[in-house]
Amino acid sequence: MLNRYVLVLNQNYEPLSITKAKRAIILLYLGKAEMIERYDGCAVRSVSQILPLPSVVRLIYYIKAPRKAVALTRKNIIKRDRHICQYCGTKKGPMTTDHVIPKKFGGKDSWENLVCACLECNNKKGDRSPEEVNMFLIKKPKRPHFFSIVHSFMEIPDRRWKQYLFLD
Ligand SMILES: [Zn+2]
Repeated sequence: MLNRYVLVLNQNYEPLSITKAKRAIILLYLGKAEMIERYDGCAVRSVSQILPLPSVVRLIYYIKAPRKAVALTRKNIIKRDRHICQYCGTKKGPMTTDHVIPKKFGGKDSWENLVCACLECNNKKGDRSPEEVNMFLIKKPKRPHFFSIVHSFMEIPDRRWKQYLFLD
């Protein structure tokens, strides 16, 4: 149980790192962090008391940490969108990236204008705007936080993490 993963938030609630429960409990014990979320029905027994198992903790003091930027690449666009076509919702087949506003209308290469799209939707949409072809995005594309890319290779251990990782 002490090896369960715990999400560490900075003092301003920005996700900072992922650690093991053992280390998070030490941070709590030392008064360096406070518990924000706990795992359901899990408790850690110490000599004198029973502590709930933390799932998310927040540091009491702000730590200056450089924000890891996620590179704007085709691969990362598809990862951000979890290999889900942002027009029809399919997860099947090879994925491409689509410019929501086509380049010829001034659409940029940006996190806000690139989405994951299946071959079929990409072909159907072509060089037109979504309104023109009546194809609408499942969700508004935005710059991913470093942790949302982490999510693509790590199972999120607690659904409550999502609100802090902006995955909701
Ligand atoms: Zn599609």
